[in-house]
Amino acid sequence: MFIGVDVGGTTIKTLLLAENEIIAFETEPNVTTSEKSVLESIEKAISKIISKKDMGKVEAIGLSIAGQVDSQNGILINAPNMPLKSFNFNKYFKEKYGKECFVDNDVNCAAIAESSLYPVNTTQIFIFLGTGIGGAAMINGKMLRGANNLAMEIGHMTHIDGGHQCGCGKRGCYEAYAGGKSLNRLYQEATGTTEYMNIIKIEDGALNGDKHASKIFNEAIHALSALTNDLITIFNPDYIIFGGGVIEHSKTILDSIKGYLKSNIRFANLSDIKFKESVFKDRSNAYGAILGYIRKHI
Ligand SMILES: [Zn+2]
Repeated sequence: MFIGVDVGGTTIKTLLLAENEIIAFETEPNVTTSEKSVLESIEKAISKIISKKDMGKVEAIGLSIAGQVDSQNGILINAPNMPLKSFNFNKYFKEKYGKECFVDNDVNCAAIAESSLYPVNTTQIFIFLGTGIGGAAMINGKMLRGANNLAMEIGHMTHIDGGHQCGCGKRGCYEAYAGGKSLNRLYQEATGTTEYMNIIKIEDGALNGDKHASKIFNEAIHALSALTNDLITIFNPDYIIFGGGVIEHSKTILDSIKGYLKSNIRFANLSDIKFKESVFKDRSNAYGAILGYIRKHI
């Protein structure tokens, strides 16, 4: 039996895997006022999914967390939405529960989960669209990590040099044009509204003739299409897998990206690339963290 824990900025999701079957899934609020409160929230989430008595049957814990992670050593280096820094989860779970663990960032965990559905000896690119834009690359079953576990921060590649302000401090990033948070800000600035506008509301506005929504949405589609095209040029992938809340709920984004690629793609053959959507959805991070442990050397 394995426990998967997905620690997000507001919610912790836990999952129990037995004989390759997901047998339980729970959510618990993450109290992010201090390091102690986050750890207490994690403990609470774990005790919700498994009793003390059954803990002995658990082989290991997989942990997905939003932040920069040294997966090799199980250390969370930095988390933008949580007061945890240089925290050794390997050591923590060993001392607290006597369990081995695997730690990786949320985007990589989601990629590991989805990747398990496709042939190993392929090049797979992952694009996750939510409040931000995350990316991952699996090449012949190996995650592309880079020197400091920072590879594939695709949301912060430059779309338009000197363009819109991005949350990372730079200007013109893809995320500043197509990340959920940025879209809300652009719409609020254009219209003066204080209502939170997620990308789906903006998409609906665009489809119903709201000219501000239409301009912002078209720019977002253009950015996402250009980003996908760039990734195809770099990696020549067998698979492109899209995930995240935006893709799950949008009516038009994926088709619009494909439409753009039809007339703009060079070198690669569009018909050779398999476009897929996330299958595990909100369970992908916790499930991927367990698979990361089982497969060890991702
Ligand atoms: Zn940025």
